Amino acid sequence: MAGRIQRSFSKKTQRIAVIGAGPIGLTLSILLTKLQHHHVEVDLYEKRSLTQFESPPDDTRVLGTTFTCRGYRPICLAGLANAYGVQLNGTQIHLPPQSSLCNTQYSYQNGREGDLFYSLNRKQLLTDLKTLFCQQKSSTLYWDHQVLDIDFETGVLKHSNGSKSAKSKQYDAIFAADGVYSQIRNKLHQNGNLRQSLTKCDLGYLYIEIPSLCRDLINTDDSSNYIFDKHSFHTFPTKEKCFTVVLPEPGGKFSASFYLMRDAYSKLIETGQLRDYLKSLFPQLYDAVPDFDKQLERKTLRDIVSVKLEPSWSYKDKLCCIGDASHAIFPFYGSGLNTGLEDVSEIISLVEQHDFQWDIIFQEFYRLRKPNTDAIQELTLNRLESFMNEMRDPQYGQFRNALDILNNSYGDSFWSVERLVRFSHVPYNQIFKFLQTEKAIVETILGKDDSIRRALKEGIRKVERVASTESMIEQMMREHREIVEHIKSPQIK
Ligand SMILES: Cc1cc2nc3c(=O)[nH]c(=O)nc-3n(C[C@H](O)[C@H](O)[C@H](O)COP(=O)(O)OP(=O)(O)OC[C@H]3O[C@@H](n4cnc5c(N)ncnc54)[C@H](O)[C@@H]3O)c2cc1C
Repeated sequence: MAGRIQRSFSKKTQRIAVIGAGPIGLTLSILLTKLQHHHVEVDLYEKRSLTQFESPPDDTRVLGTTFTCRGYRPICLAGLANAYGVQLNGTQIHLPPQSSLCNTQYSYQNGREGDLFYSLNRKQLLTDLKTLFCQQKSSTLYWDHQVLDIDFETGVLKHSNGSKSAKSKQYDAIFAADGVYSQIRNKLHQNGNLRQSLTKCDLGYLYIEIPSLCRDLINTDDSSNYIFDKHSFHTFPTKEKCFTVVLPEPGGKFSASFYLMRDAYSKLIETGQLRDYLKSLFPQLYDAVPDFDKQLERKTLRDIVSVKLEPSWSYKDKLCCIGDASHAIFPFYGSGLNTGLEDVSEIISLVEQHDFQWDIIFQEFYRLRKPNTDAIQELTLNRLESFMNEMRDPQYGQFRNALDILNNSYGDSFWSVERLVRFSHVPYNQIFKFLQTEKAIVETILGKDDSIRRALKEGIRKVERVASTESMIEQMMREHREIVEHIKSPQIK
């Protein structure tokens, strides 16, 4: 046909195994079976039973989760709605009662109108993805099937179903989406195929469900009826190395994750003072949860672990780790799931480009994604520093205020780091480069120009009129113009 290039795709049916029906395994499996022009069969293996999946016995499966445009793209392609969950318009920082600031709370806007930032209930997300997966014709979900071993050379996967004897099946390619403690990745490490490093965070977390913070359950749609704003991301920093994140969930509920130092937690348990400690640090939360004590009795502190792999995430053309299995990230930027879903988008696009040449796909996948996943791990550590130290510092309010003003006044040319992470598709490694520039811009504004400082303190949002500051900011912004151009480029919209 004149003027049109006809691509020919391999006719061979691709048999693919995905290990783990977490959000990454499920989304990847759906998108693989939806590939146009290809015939793909996907077997998805999940070690949990359907009952455990539907009524998760532990907190990790029910956690509230923040969701950004990075994660939305693949789940929308999989078939979920564009606006999914509770929209988060702002962030509220609830300062400790004994704070030196007169206000006990300050807030800032999350992004700008139209930016996607949602809070989801993880159980709901998994259930909806499972339903979509089961609608695909050439795919099978094996509940209660633990993958025991893989022969990396031949692609033979060994799995067991409860007490029944183990069975084997051969695949063209296998994806290990089996989470932070991936058994498959451990085996690659033990065989010397790659190096893994697992880092345990000094903090662990306790998850508390908040049935409803609505004063009047009949009027759940009325926002003014809520003890905490139901369209905000809430954080509660303290003077101790301990803080809480509260997320609204669909249906008027909220969920709270308390982050505590592991050694402090052990001492509190030993001395029986955990409840009093949390009560004294978070009186607003304690009072808002009627069965706080009861829930706390059933909880133990859960570990937070990050994972890095070098010099690859895969083995030849047979196996590739994806999601938390390849790069688990501390949760302080709410980015682990979103980053894993970006992986899924990348894999699907590489499969389309390279027509199932798995060795090329896996190598390209690592080359493109690894700098980004390393960068988001660094950005997350920086964010942890904010939670632990900066947020409770009165100056942080001014810092946030300055960012807010810059975001609002220079919207087209200034994107704060937080906005870039949450509301753009700019690669994380580019954002990381901007971290220091952002600090410098804000510190210059706060440090050098009295009128600006006063304006910020008084909340006057007309800073852009002050010419000297404008030129100063302009100069610094040249450094991140490249990033802003990238945001505007059509292919990432
Ligand atoms: C406290 C906390 C808060 C978080 N908040 C956010 C947030 O707000 N936003 C965000 O983007 N991310 C967040 N994250 C990160 C996010 O939860 C993870 O990145 C995400 O769940 C990873 O998904 P996954 O599918 O890779 O792994 P998982 O969700 O761990 O799923 C792995 C699946 O594999 C199965 N499996 C394991 N081994 C086998 C085997 N041998 N055979 C068969 N099946 C197996 C498991 O049963 C499980 O179903 C948070 C994490 C934590 C700890």
